[in-house]
Amino acid sequence: MPVEPPVESPSSLADAYRLLTGGLLRPIAGGTDLMVQITGELGEPPRRVLDLWHVDELRGISRSDGGLVLGALTTYAELRRSPIVAEFLPELAEAAATIGAAQIQNRGTIGGNIANASPAGDTLPLLLATDAQIVVGSARGERDIAAHDFWTGYRRTALAPDELVLRVVMPLPADRQLRFRKIGTRRAQAISKVVMALAWRPAVDGRWHDVRLALGSIAERPVRAWETERQLEGAEPSKETAARAVATLAAEIHPIDDVRSTAAYRRAVAARVLERLIRNEGGW
Ligand SMILES: Cc1cc2nc3c(=O)[nH]c(=O)nc-3n(C[C@H](O)[C@H](O)[C@H](O)COP(=O)(O)OP(=O)(O)OC[C@H]3O[C@@H](n4cnc5c(N)ncnc54)[C@H](O)[C@@H]3O)c2cc1C
Repeated sequence: MPVEPPVESPSSLADAYRLLTGGLLRPIAGGTDLMVQITGELGEPPRRVLDLWHVDELRGISRSDGGLVLGALTTYAELRRSPIVAEFLPELAEAAATIGAAQIQNRGTIGGNIANASPAGDTLPLLLATDAQIVVGSARGERDIAAHDFWTGYRRTALAPDELVLRVVMPLPADRQLRFRKIGTRRAQAISKVVMALAWRPAVDGRWHDVRLALGSIAERPVRAWETERQLEGAEPSKETAARAVATLAAEIHPIDDVRSTAAYRRAVAARVLERLIRNEGGW
């Protein structure tokens, strides 16, 4: 029988920082990832736990000059219901709706998705494609980490052991277009085989600029497809553009075989999803 680890439950960020300074504690937010690890069958189980659920400074969805601001404890259900998200970043609500099912959406948080650092975390490609900043903090102060610097390896992040994810800021350029696609086995309770977010700004001549293409489940961490982005930059969404971008993407990504899918399937599907996204925009 697994032994339940001792739990500290601060009600303010200052108390949470103080506890983290005093010794190694594993934060728990919604617990939808951490509780799976509690038995120790999947790696090192947490020895002591820091329950963040009552730290209200980590809650809230708002709009600032920097963009959409999401507290780390924002749940997927909150993302789905938020009028601000619906108005300014509906693709995030779309992504939240694909995660787990109702139980997971009621407890699972965006901060947990970010800190858990699974290559299959469904919100992570959207954070990469929107140039999000992840704001982290500890008793030593706060700092911003660009999403593309945050995931450093398989389930590894740029967070120090005493740091918490506080919030994420997603810039909202007025003319940006954003698309999200998730490929899984079913419509609910499906971990991604491939997850993709594509962002660009259209010029008056129809060409794409500031292209961002981010993928999950095709590498040890969520990644940007830099080569394919370069291929799409300044191009129009034509058949020729799609053919070139798809070939570049297929060569650029290095998926793995695992229980959910084969590398060959992931490569083929990622390429096909990108082709369809470009085709939809080009109207051919
Ligand atoms: C049945 C099931 C289905 C799922 N389906 C999906 C899915 O479709 N897509 C998907 O992406 N994920 C899915 N997940 C995984 C999980 O629900 C998400 O990753 C969720 O966002 C985790 O959030 P949480 O608040 O529950 O994190 P927790 O389990 O509380 O924490 C996860 C990790 O993050 C750390 N952590 C949490 N919050 C912070 C913080 N603020 N600062 C620092 N560290 C922190 C914890 O220490 C832990 O290591 C599923 C899980 C289950 C059990």
